[in-house]
Amino acid sequence: MKPNESPETSASFTLQGAGVSGGIAIGHAHLVSTARLEVAHYEIPSHEIDAEVARFDRAIAQVEGELSALQANVPPGAPLEMKAILNLHAMLLKDSALSAVPRELIRNRRCNAEWALTQQLDYLVAQFEEMEDPYLRERKQDVVQVVERVLAAMLGTGHAPAAPSHEEDLIVVAHDLSPADMILFKQHRYAGFVTDLGGVTSHTAILARSLALPAIVGLHHARGMIREGETLIVDGREGVLIVNPGERVLAEYRERARRIESEREKLKRLRSSRSATLDGVPVELLANIELPQDVEEAAEAGAMGIGLFRSEFLFLNRDDLPSEDEQFEAYRKVADAMHGRPVTIRTLDLGADKSINGADRGGPNPALGLRAIRFCLAEPQMFLTQLRAILRASRYGKIRLLIPMLAHAHEVEQTLAAVRQAREMLDDQRIPYDHRIQIGGMIEVPAAALSLPYFLKKLDFLSIGTNDLIQYTLAIDRTDDTVAHLYNPLHPAVLQLIAQTIRRAKRAGTPVAVCGEMAGDSMMTRLLLGFGLREFSMHPAQLLAIKNEVLRTRIMEIEKAAARVTREHDPVRARALLDKLNAWERGRD
Ligand code: PEP
Ligand code: MG
Repeated sequence: MKPNESPETSASFTLQGAGVSGGIAIGHAHLVSTARLEVAHYEIPSHEIDAEVARFDRAIAQVEGELSALQANVPPGAPLEMKAILNLHAMLLKDSALSAVPRELIRNRRCNAEWALTQQLDYLVAQFEEMEDPYLRERKQDVVQVVERVLAAMLGTGHAPAAPSHEEDLIVVAHDLSPADMILFKQHRYAGFVTDLGGVTSHTAILARSLALPAIVGLHHARGMIREGETLIVDGREGVLIVNPGERVLAEYRERARRIESEREKLKRLRSSRSATLDGVPVELLANIELPQDVEEAAEAGAMGIGLFRSEFLFLNRDDLPSEDEQFEAYRKVADAMHGRPVTIRTLDLGADKSINGADRGGPNPALGLRAIRFCLAEPQMFLTQLRAILRASRYGKIRLLIPMLAHAHEVEQTLAAVRQAREMLDDQRIPYDHRIQIGGMIEVPAAALSLPYFLKKLDFLSIGTNDLIQYTLAIDRTDDTVAHLYNPLHPAVLQLIAQTIRRAKRAGTPVAVCGEMAGDSMMTRLLLGFGLREFSMHPAQLLAIKNEVLRTRIMEIEKAAARVTREHDPVRARALLDKLNAWERGRD
């Protein structure tokens, strides 16, 4: 729907998307926009519409003035592009798409100027993203920058929005949210969120799981159909969003939410119990974290270590790169908090949906582009800075280095050479570090899984990234909801790659873990145990549910059934076999 079409009325209706994070949230819609998470949305009374339009016009005029002043003052030696960019920004500002359409929106929708402008921005950004020409596509960034200038000009000149509800009562409704936006959510206490775009293993969805927030992605037109303040029910298990529910429906969902909460409470009792199967096989349960402060939640859930620290999140939402010292402090903090238990720091996995402020998304097909280790090897100084910081922190605990997205032998060689170089630099400066630090690789590209003997020979441990392994095996962009229906962890190709990687690693005596979302999905626990997996890494919020599965499983009885699932080509029958495997011992309990 274009932003100037009018929204639905307040009748009750239901939308179906992909549930990405368990639980049920009941609250009021809070509409946010891509440009700025903080842009408020409020209604303008009819008699104030002209004044609101005038406020918008004043902001446009102010930015026009700012840009001409900048154009007039470009220093003589400045690069030519600087002038070209300022000219382009001035032109964009004059274009009716930015200077006229928002005025219509203010009048037609009776909304505040900031909101009208960001609605139009989202529409334009979507148009730019569809452009074939990569140069034109990248001009999207210029539009965003111009809009942000206008928003800044309006700052402080608006009406106060209607008294906001408590955050705990708000459900964020967005067209799309980036992983960087989600990290900002950690500072809030929203009840849940829903987005039009996104797939179930996008980093945005992964972060929702880590926040233990009920969430739904891939709702297509939800943001255009929902109004600020409307009552919403988010069923994150079933992917169902109910807008303006009636009293009976509300009562039913309140009861379901209460039951889920009491299940969670019961699980807390497992926190200190030993993690082993019914036949006494120990299973290590570790935590995935994004930021150093997440380590507290990991310890709280009883994690035996950190199996995946997605270090790139230290690099998001800022204009500069974190220095070596800043990174060192962050890694040391995690090592200290884990008191000698393993802390697996994954080197930067930037690119695709996670980019540093201002950088583009890395080529025409970012998931297949300069991402993760490819990006690090192309930016050796940045990589060395990180490696030095990790090595320096290694003397404060049991730190392990994990390298993402390896596919080629030369990438392994170059990475090991970079680690050697970082070590030599520290040796020269007599800076201590753990000389026995282990270096592991993520198996998340089918090429790596299929040429495992090489990786086994060169690396100390492996960690299977099922999110990317599924994305790359099935050729589906994990952030694209239009292909989300093709996402199938039970596809025999996926299961065979996982089972075979575990089997071969064990045979070679190399420790192997799974750290993708599959490790935190209790439906998959027995299957992975049946494949021989004994190390799982997941978000702390999922850890006790997985322990519960481990405690109810007898390995001897599930191995054959697990192998049977990998041979099944029909997705419905594969799911039925999995259900049988999961129900089997439960029935005997
Ligand atoms: C994975 O790909 O499964 C993984 C754990 O890494 P990420 O989700 O950060 O890409
Ligand atoms: Mg990955």
